[in-house]
Amino acid sequence: MSLSQRQQEYLQLLGINVWVSRDAVAVAETASAKNQSGADDWSQLCEQVSGCRQCPLHQGRTQTVFGTGNQAADWMVIGEAPGAEEDRQGEPFVGRAGKLLTSMLFAIGLQRQQVYIANILKCRPPNNRDPAPEEVTACGDYLRRQISLVRPKIILAVGRIAAQNLLKIDTPIGKMRGQSYRYAELDIPVVVTYHPAYLLRSPREKRKAWEDLQTAMRLYSEICA
Ligand code: URA
Repeated sequence: MSLSQRQQEYLQLLGINVWVSRDAVAVAETASAKNQSGADDWSQLCEQVSGCRQCPLHQGRTQTVFGTGNQAADWMVIGEAPGAEEDRQGEPFVGRAGKLLTSMLFAIGLQRQQVYIANILKCRPPNNRDPAPEEVTACGDYLRRQISLVRPKIILAVGRIAAQNLLKIDTPIGKMRGQSYRYAELDIPVVVTYHPAYLLRSPREKRKAWEDLQTAMRLYSEICA
């Protein structure tokens, strides 16, 4: 790979060099066709989540963070749990890590609005601690229903918590990268990469995340071929 290509990739990772490889019109048409079928299911699910009191996290939340984006997306991104900013705004990945996630998606030609973004947990754990197993269990059905409503062609699991809980394994994230996985319930391919918050702390790992994103893009192209 030439240096200029590599530089371009870094710029794209940072969201500076914008390019969109997909046909936006085709995407919008598919979205509108799929959306018509599940509107009631979505609003019912959204209502259930916003009133949820199934675990103690409801006591400390400003609001639930349901999920955002294209409800008929080919790509679904799954993260861990809302942080302070997400709890304040009610939308996943809107803080610093979220901005990096948006840039990472941009780098592979995806606009944030094209994909569907959700978390394992819908409420913020105090002090951003890891989700407790009973919280993951209490919230699990919400994400399952979101995935089955979106029916994405590919899932990008960002971070250890998302990957391990989605795939029901306890492999360390470094070992999960580069392996092929499927979300068993619906047989959807899952690509695992680092969490953008980790990449902010360890920017040298961005190179690996970029490789994961390219793997995901290749896989998606094969699925669509
Ligand atoms: N980290 C996550 O995993 N999800 C968010 O929504 C924000 C930060």
